[in-house]
This record gives sequence, C-alpha cells and structure tokens, in this order.
Amino acid sequence: MKFKPEEYRIRDERMKPFIDPDEIWEYVEETKNPTPEQVREVIQKSLNKNRLNLRETAILINANTPELVQEIKDGARELKEKVYGNRIVLFAPLYIGNKCKNNCTYCGFRASNKEAVRKTLSDQEIVNEVEALEDNGQKRLILVYGEHADYSPEYIADNVKTVYNVKKGKGEIRRVNINAAPLEIEGFRTVREAGIGTYQVFQETYHPEAYKLYHLGGPKANYDYRLTSLDRAQEAGVDDVGIGALFGLYDWRFELMAMVRHTNHFEACYNVGPHTISFPRITSASAMDINRQYIVNDEEFVRIIAILRLAVPYTGLILTARENAQVRTEVMSFGVSQIDGGTKLELGSYSENLNEEQNLNKEQFTINDNRSLNEIIDELLDKGYMPSFCTACYRLGRTGEHFMEFSVPGFIKRYCTPNAILTLSEYLVDYAPEATQEKGWAVIEREINDLEGFNRKDELKSRIEQIKQGKRDMYF
Ligand code: SAM
Ligand code: SF4
Repeated sequence: MKFKPEEYRIRDERMKPFIDPDEIWEYVEETKNPTPEQVREVIQKSLNKNRLNLRETAILINANTPELVQEIKDGARELKEKVYGNRIVLFAPLYIGNKCKNNCTYCGFRASNKEAVRKTLSDQEIVNEVEALEDNGQKRLILVYGEHADYSPEYIADNVKTVYNVKKGKGEIRRVNINAAPLEIEGFRTVREAGIGTYQVFQETYHPEAYKLYHLGGPKANYDYRLTSLDRAQEAGVDDVGIGALFGLYDWRFELMAMVRHTNHFEACYNVGPHTISFPRITSASAMDINRQYIVNDEEFVRIIAILRLAVPYTGLILTARENAQVRTEVMSFGVSQIDGGTKLELGSYSENLNEEQNLNKEQFTINDNRSLNEIIDELLDKGYMPSFCTACYRLGRTGEHFMEFSVPGFIKRYCTPNAILTLSEYLVDYAPEATQEKGWAVIEREINDLEGFNRKDELKSRIEQIKQGKRDMYF
C-alpha cells in the first residue's frame, strides 16, 4: 500500500521536525561568559576525538575574548592538521537549470525575478559542459537546479547518467553530487539508483520565524518539509547527505547550533552524521531583497568554521567560491576539507566562454573567486596542501569515510594520502602546465617520503609510473 507524503511523516517519528528554537537559545544563554578552563576543556574533548554536544558548542560560541577565540582557532587547526593532514578535495558545480517556482528573497533565480533569463541545458549542452570540465581536469561535479516541475527525480537521474557517460580524452567524471529541491522518498530512490554521491539540501535558516520572512511562496515556503527532506533521503537509502545554512539570514550563533543539532539528529536516527556541512555566506544577487542585520563578517566567518571543525570533527566541511581568494586561503587551515575550483555559475559558461554581457542574469548570485582550477591547484601546492580528486571510498562502497578517516588509525595513510597522490599524478600528467607539474611532483615526492609505516610504498610508486604510461583510475 502506498502512503501519501503527509502520512509518511506522521507514521515515522524520525520525520518530525527536530529544531526547538527555545532549546537552542537556552543553551546559548546559559553558557554566557564561559571561563577559559571551560573553553579549554571543550577544545580538549574535541581533540580527544569526540563530537561536541549542544551545550559544549554553545560554550565555544560564547567564548568572545580575543585570547579564547585564538585558542579555538588553534584547536581547530591542530585537529585539522593532526587528523586530516593537508589534503583538500576539489570539485566544480554545474548549473543545469534555473527555472524556479519558489520565491526566496535572497536568490537571483526566484520566480518573481522577471529579469532572470530562464534556461535549462539540453542533453547536448550538458555533454558540452562536462567535456569542458573534463578538459580542465575535473573529476567530481555537483549538479545544481532550481525547483521546478521540469526537474523531476527521473530527469535528474537521467542527467546523472548523461554526465557519467561523457568521456573526453582521458577525462571522466567519477562522482556526481546533487543540490536540488527536496524530494519524496520515491524520488530519492530514483536518484540513488542513478549512482549519485551526496544529495545536498540547505535549510538556509533553521529559525522557523526567520525562514518565513525569506521564503515567500512555492513549496520551499514549507519549513518542516525542507527540514525533514534528508530524513526521507535516508529512508530511501541515500545515506550520503549534505546539510547547510546560508549565513546572513539569521543570527550565526543560532544557525551553528542548529547544524550541530541536525547532525545529532542524524546520528541518533541513522547512526551516521551528514557527509558534509556547507556554510555559504550570502553574496549579492539580481533582485535580492534582504536586510543586512545578520551579515557575517570575515572574523565571525573564521570563528564559525573553527567552531564547526571542533564540534563535528568527522564531517566534511565545504567552502565555495562565494568567498574571495584571500578569505578562502585564510580559512582553509581551520578545517575545510573540500573547495570548488574554476567555478562558473552561468548556465552553459564552461563550454561557451560567454562574455560578461551574455552572462548577465543567468547566474544565481555572484562569486568572488574566479580563478581557474589550475590557478587554485598552484596556490594549494604553494601553500603546502595536497590537492585531491579522490573518489575511492564512494566507489568502493566505503561510506562514512570521514568518520573512518577520523577514527580508524592509519586510514588516511593507507587510503586517503595514496589516493590523493594518484589523482594528483593523473592531473599533472593530463592537464597541468609545466610549472604546476614541477611543483606537483615535488609535493608528491615529499608526501611519499612522509608516509612512514605505509607498507605499500613500492606499489604506490609503481602505480605513478603506470599513470605516466597512460593507465588511469587506480585506487587503494
Ligand atoms: N534550488 C535548490 C534549493 O534552493 O535548495 C537548490 C539549488 S540553490 C540554486 C543552492 C543554494 O544556493 C541554496 O540552497 C542557497 O543556500 C544558495 N544561495 C541562494 N542564493 C544565494 C546568494 N544570494 N548568495 C549565496 N548563496 C545563495
Ligand atoms: Fe529557487 Fe533554490 Fe533560488 Fe530558492 S534558492 S529561488 S529554490 S533556486
């Protein structure tokens, strides 16, 4: 027997909204003016590899003196360095269509924005875009959609298959993630069967009253339906989900607490936290209409990332090109694990090379980091990071990889670093200009030397040789 959507949620306790604004504010109130000892104790708990509870997160949020903020940042940096090392995974967004029936007041795609040029890529245009992305060296994409009847689960699933089938030269896309509207359980099943990686739905603001002010129409105006969307995903077997809040809509302290609450909810119900957390800051958009009361400044942004790193130590943190190059460089060391590179948001612009006028009004919001993928890789290498295009865990069914990276001794040494080395080697051979190649091979040599106790070093070196001879897609 088939249940209607409403009935699903009533029948299953997990599908009930789980954010209690009063509870969150009470924690923030109750932990005001923490002592340095309290703050240090919480940092230490996280460094001892434990996720923080809401009260502990609130203590970090309330640590306002410059000295304590510095200790939090140092703690986050230490956790990132010790546990995750210096890998940064790279991806690119691919906007498929900007038709939208919602009216989110912060977004250029909102239905009431008559200036927006509406477009959905045809199959051929998707192929062109993916070929252009592969020519740059991308291996991981996130497909992005407005909310519209045209973008059904079947349609999205079809796009995913189209993307996986594009193989240009030595290029291929090995992981396709999705950022689209919430689906019903059946819909999530359909997209799961197409082989998606992560399904992202951002709550935008977790505060129900604030949410109402920004979401003026369409299905997205239903806060509860959005909040429980990734529970439906879990129910459908999509266990790799991404949550997020759009910072600038409401008080950052509340949103941070709510994301930790969302994480606890997943852990309690499904035994696994979200795969990733995103923390976009609002940037300007055509026809945007919001007041600036809650805009998050750079200093607060760094604090948000550092506190998140400590609060949810085994969740991937994603930083996007909404941020400018300088901010990206600065905040990366506090615990970010994934960034986008070579990002273009205008529909069709990876393959078309549109001029600025042609681009006008086909993008959702403006980005502040326009560097090419190679420029970003260059900078990562210069700063001692290890760019990675690894997709091994997902393809081997090793789900919950962040948790394993964090908790299984030697996991990073055995899998993550060698796979980062192999995927970077592919990039250097296939796509990198000479100067990047030089830097990249030097970093790889250093990384191999540092892999103390990894007993498959010879195999790793032999695989690099095989990559130079033309073999691709080997992983541990
Ligand atoms: N339409 C789907 C939705 O709303 O969930 C998915 C795609 S939407 C294009 C992706 C995300 O972009 C939204 O969840 C929102 O957080 C973010 N976004 C929208 N407007 C923005 C703006 N002006 N600045 C920064 N991010 C924005
Ligand atoms: Fe549509 Fe998403 Fe933009 Fe809202 S944020 S107007 S749902 S594309």
